[in-house]
Amino acid sequence: MLRRNFLQFVTVASLGAFERAEAGALPKAASVPGGVAFVKLGPDPTPPIARFNGNRVMVEGDKAEWLAVVGIPLEATAGSKLPLVVERAGREASTVKFAVGRKQYATQRLTVKPGQVELSPEDLARYETERAHLSEMRKTFTDAVPESLSLIQPCDGPRSNTFGQRRFFNGQSRNPHNGMDIPAPEGAPVVAAAEATVIDAGDYFFSGNTVILDHGQGFLTLYAHLSVIEVAVGDKLAAVTRIGKVGATGRVTGPHLHFSVYLNSVAVDPGLFLPEN
Ligand code: ZN
Repeated sequence: MLRRNFLQFVTVASLGAFERAEAGALPKAASVPGGVAFVKLGPDPTPPIARFNGNRVMVEGDKAEWLAVVGIPLEATAGSKLPLVVERAGREASTVKFAVGRKQYATQRLTVKPGQVELSPEDLARYETERAHLSEMRKTFTDAVPESLSLIQPCDGPRSNTFGQRRFFNGQSRNPHNGMDIPAPEGAPVVAAAEATVIDAGDYFFSGNTVILDHGQGFLTLYAHLSVIEVAVGDKLAAVTRIGKVGATGRVTGPHLHFSVYLNSVAVDPGLFLPEN
């Protein structure tokens, strides 16, 4: 499957992301919560700077037409118009609004032993520290524009369609699932979903052994629950470079890869970036 996906990637990569958006090849994304909005910014001799909720947004294209590629938070209100702040050289900042459509995500209700919902004070302290660190990592924005928005499925296995699922443990609301789970045997290889720089590699309370890759312009991918990490912060990787192995580290019930995709610090549906199964 990896090989087939890679060949599809090569074909798609010969088009610019803007043309693909126009052609409908990418994204499968609609402008919905957890999706991606493509917002035309018009012509300009230099690339404008765009911000959403204070975070830099991917801008690509050329002087004839710039395009903002905006990750929309799961908590965005369907039917609303969200403001993108645009700074153009020599002009005052302006606001461009884009519409957010509707998308229904599933709800999952789980019943577990009462003691498994609450964290001990030690675990809570560790989690708070890690949450702050990971939040900073998600804000990474480097100027290089990725060659493509296409990603390669990072490990072989069935894709779960649980992104955005709202979860309740014993009736208590938890954060919605912010990625895609791919069940795979312990030790199966995990590869970089695109050309990237490693910006984080560590062992975290919930996500276990975790790697975060920067593809440029705030486009990041995250790989969690690895049994082994085989890269280090600062490594520059070609697409499909092995980064580790599938595992069950962190808070999980069995071996699988948790795969998240971020744009402008927002988790978006990884399925939008992968070729059709
Ligand atoms: Zn997951």
